[in-house]
Amino acid sequence: MNGHFAAVGNGPGHKQFGHGIQVIDEEKAFNAHLNEYLSETQVAEAGFNYHLISVFGSQSTGKSTLLNHLFGTEFSVMSESERRQTTKGIWMSKNKKEGANADGAKMAENILVMDVEGTDGRERGEDQDFERKSALFALATSEVLIVNIWEHQVGLYQGANMGLLKTVFEVNLQLFLKDRKAQSPRSLLFFVIRDHIGNTPLSNLRNTLIQDLSKIWSSISKPQGLENSKIDDYFDFAFAALPHKVLQPQQFLAEVDKLGARFAAGHRSTKDQEFVGGVFLPEYHRRIPADGLSVYAEGVWDQITNNKDLDLPTQQELLAQFRCDEISREVLVGFDEIIAPLEEQQAESTRLGKASVLANLGATGAAAREKCVKAFETQASRYHKGVYTTKRGELESKIDSRLKALYQAQLSAAHKAGVAAFSDAVTNAVKTGQKSGGSYEFAEIVEKQKRKTLEFFKKEAQSLLIQGVAWSNFKPQYRLFEKELDEVSARLRKEEMRRLAIRVERWVKSRLGDAIGLEFNKLGSGRGGSGAPETGEKPPTEKDLWDRIWTVFIGIVKEAETRFTDRAKSFEANEEEVEVGLWRLRRKSWVALRERIEEEVMESNILMKLRENFEDKFRYDEEGVPRIWRPTDDIEGIYTRARESTLSLIPLLSRFRLAETYAPPDLPAFIGLQPAGAETEDEEDLAPIGGVDEEEGKSLEEEMTVLSESKRQDLVVRFKKMADGVYVEAKRSAIGGMTQ
Ligand code: GDP
Ligand code: MG
Repeated sequence: MNGHFAAVGNGPGHKQFGHGIQVIDEEKAFNAHLNEYLSETQVAEAGFNYHLISVFGSQSTGKSTLLNHLFGTEFSVMSESERRQTTKGIWMSKNKKEGANADGAKMAENILVMDVEGTDGRERGEDQDFERKSALFALATSEVLIVNIWEHQVGLYQGANMGLLKTVFEVNLQLFLKDRKAQSPRSLLFFVIRDHIGNTPLSNLRNTLIQDLSKIWSSISKPQGLENSKIDDYFDFAFAALPHKVLQPQQFLAEVDKLGARFAAGHRSTKDQEFVGGVFLPEYHRRIPADGLSVYAEGVWDQITNNKDLDLPTQQELLAQFRCDEISREVLVGFDEIIAPLEEQQAESTRLGKASVLANLGATGAAAREKCVKAFETQASRYHKGVYTTKRGELESKIDSRLKALYQAQLSAAHKAGVAAFSDAVTNAVKTGQKSGGSYEFAEIVEKQKRKTLEFFKKEAQSLLIQGVAWSNFKPQYRLFEKELDEVSARLRKEEMRRLAIRVERWVKSRLGDAIGLEFNKLGSGRGGSGAPETGEKPPTEKDLWDRIWTVFIGIVKEAETRFTDRAKSFEANEEEVEVGLWRLRRKSWVALRERIEEEVMESNILMKLRENFEDKFRYDEEGVPRIWRPTDDIEGIYTRARESTLSLIPLLSRFRLAETYAPPDLPAFIGLQPAGAETEDEEDLAPIGGVDEEEGKSLEEEMTVLSESKRQDLVVRFKKMADGVYVEAKRSAIGGMTQ
């Protein structure tokens, strides 16, 4: 059963605390509801702005009566008629007299009063153990100890009260043994002399008491190292006298009222060390924040009842650890409310495989962090400094590890989104440029989009920066992002190079189509250029067909190379890339030329060319005038010459050979060695070229073969048949011309 419920019943709300709260019950059990009481009385939120007073004294000396009058409390008082001891234990109540007294003086705020009952059991030889324990408890918690004493007891050095004081002094010395360097808090012993008749002035009583106290102090055995300590090192003294309550009730009340005014904040006069204002000097305060008081008191009581060494610095550290953890948990709840949904959102999009950039994450995260840490600081900084600092660090690293995970995922999402946006934007801009006539500057597009994307990432990274928090500097991630954009740019540029290459290749093909056709057409005019309008220039002959084709080809490729290089340079392709592009261009151009030639020498085409060539020679004379055959004409001779002349073209056409050297052009030299920068993917779509790609097993001679042996023979046969037909026809026409 809980003490306060047992004592005051189960009334609802604050009423159940009407008599205060029994902190320690008669079974020496600590009341787990103390903090509830402190919360209900609004003390818990007061920080250090509260005071704790305990009262000591022999049984039935009017202690509870005094407290009830002084502080408006409702501690139980022994009834006049029964005169038996009230319950043992320690009761606590908040001062209910916070208004001004008759003189207009006000008490301090939030005074908690502890009524220590059942002390001084020695009179009846009773529980000295409880006396000692409660004294320790009161000293460990209270700023002021009221010592209640009858006037007639003053000077009785061996009296019951003196035994109690001896106990108080002894236990006080124990409290600070462990950490002597820690400034031991002082306590005020406030002697209230009851039933003061007035014959002996208070100052005399005071001197007597001080003498007695000194005697007691010198009589107690002091721990090692504290042998020379003086009573004033630990205690201050104050004195008050009250008239007989029953005999002088009016005066009693008036004096109590005055006494109440002394329970206010005060300081010492520099002149005579007397109190100025009230008796609550800051140095008496135990510096236990009000919201930690119940935990602290419980810890202290636990140590005391288990007969462990009670030392206050350790208790304060334990309290700080407990409370800092508790506060940390509380403030993390608020942090969690803001951050958990964001974590959830991020996890969700990760599950769905899409990187989402959360809006305002930096601002939200920083605000949540700031709020959380500030809330912790406000409450926890009142506790033991060392513990507070450690716990604050722990809290920060807890918060930061979560923020860090969030932020890093955010940046990796921004990274992914940025790269995709960049790639898309460049591709789209190129497409738009192509649609609108193909005039676009690739380098400019890349530059502009890169700037834009970097700006986006930078903004995001900067928004995540928390002042003074090193991990929140994401410069390295920014660099990484920039590096990746450069890689993507390089890839896009390569694609652009490919597109350029295709355009240039098409151009080469179309130029070759015209130019090569022209050269082959000249074959048809077998009259050795008699019809050529050019003057001064060496007229084309069949012999230099391949020279002309080669020259034309080289010219076209050179021009294409210039186009390619200029354009590639404009989008900042590097030398190596240009090298590879040109190498590919030359190869593709050669293949295009081969295809073009192939087309020209296709059976029907070449046969027609040969026929034209033959007919030119056979049907026209040297002046280019058509022959009218007469029977006297040497038709056979002309036929044979024309036929042989045309037939001689076939071997010429069969191989790509330059007239001067009677050798193929130096194709390997023209194409050049494969540039070091060419990767395998650059070669994938390239047809092998004989004499250039050695490993393909095809020789340059084979590459330069235009007509195979069998095709050649076939062509000869067909041409001869055709020529024969023309001859027969000529013969007939000659005879016919004669007969006509
Ligand atoms: P406590 O045991 O010290 O808390 O004393 P109580 O407050 O219960 O009072 C014990 C008895 O002393 C009661 O019967 C009170 O009426 C009586 N009493 C209270 N104050 C005074 C006082 O100032 N003078 C005298 N003579 N009796 C008092
Ligand atoms: Mg009492």
